[in-house]
Amino acid sequence: AKSMGKACYEIFSAQMRTQSATLFSLNSDLPQAIEQNQLRLHYQPLIHLESGKIQGFEALVRWQHPKKGLIYPGDFIPLAEENGLIVPLGYWVLKEACRQNQLWNQAYPQATTPLFISVNLSGRQFRDPHLIENIQKIIEDVDLLPHSLKLELTESVVMDDVEVSVNGLLSLKKINIKVGIDDFGTGYSSLSYLHRFPVDTLKVDRSFVMRMHDASDNEAIVKTIISLSHSLQMDVIAEGIETAAQAEKLKTWNCEYGQGYFFSRPVPSEKAEALLANPPHW
Ligand code: C2E
Ligand code: CA
Ligand code: CA
Ligand code: CA
Repeated sequence: AKSMGKACYEIFSAQMRTQSATLFSLNSDLPQAIEQNQLRLHYQPLIHLESGKIQGFEALVRWQHPKKGLIYPGDFIPLAEENGLIVPLGYWVLKEACRQNQLWNQAYPQATTPLFISVNLSGRQFRDPHLIENIQKIIEDVDLLPHSLKLELTESVVMDDVEVSVNGLLSLKKINIKVGIDDFGTGYSSLSYLHRFPVDTLKVDRSFVMRMHDASDNEAIVKTIISLSHSLQMDVIAEGIETAAQAEKLKTWNCEYGQGYFFSRPVPSEKAEALLANPPHW
């Protein structure tokens, strides 16, 4: 057992060494990523399920690394959250996403509500004392209607300190920014607090949507989240829709919006624009 333990340790430490070396170099390259314009946004359409129309996009950041190629947020957002760079990175994302959305709203005016843009906000940014003034400056600079911006905060971020969160959400509401709770259902039960959060949308985590066909339990959870949201006057977005059958079910359950590979993967702005110019028949 002893030698086995040692062998395991050696394999483990060798893996850790390569992994931490990679993380270390990403960590030291990250400040330049922002300065040298290496960040990119991809956009994933959010579909109004009943009409099949694009109602908005979620902006998702990527890092075009000069040596390592395209890096996904799972590999650098956690680093940025740890070293604090998430705050400047987050403002870059916010500004670029707002700028893009304003251009699209001018080029593709919608019959009813304007296209909205969803931007992920990390906990550190949500608690940044300059958040409100910075958002106001950005939307003024790019001339965006405040209610076409929606910030996505994860359930765990808003649950972290409920009193502080409620106040933060109220100040966003005061300046007419929309807010959605992301990854709903994955954190600790927040049902008793949910009614206190002034939020516009709940986003059902994709783990429930993807497992809908496995068990009727998962269907029941999704249906319950939808009716809970509606009873609290919130809209629902289901993420991770990969099949027509999932989209169809969610539509019959009156889920307002859907997002997932079935409609489109997150795509660069030119491709997102092509979807607006020539909407597929969903
Ligand atoms: P998220 O906010 O939950 O974003 C949805 C993730 O699910 C995206 O991964 C998207 O590509 C993926 N996805 C969408 N549809 C499907 C589907 O049908 N099937 C499957 N399997 N996956 C799907 P991505 O782009 O890798 O982003 C991962 C996470 O990184 C995001 O999760 C978000 O938490 C974070 N993130 C991305 N951009 C930003 C940002 O600008 N700021 C912050 N703070 N976090 C960000
Ligand atoms: Ca999100
Ligand atoms: Ca999510
Ligand atoms: Ca997620």
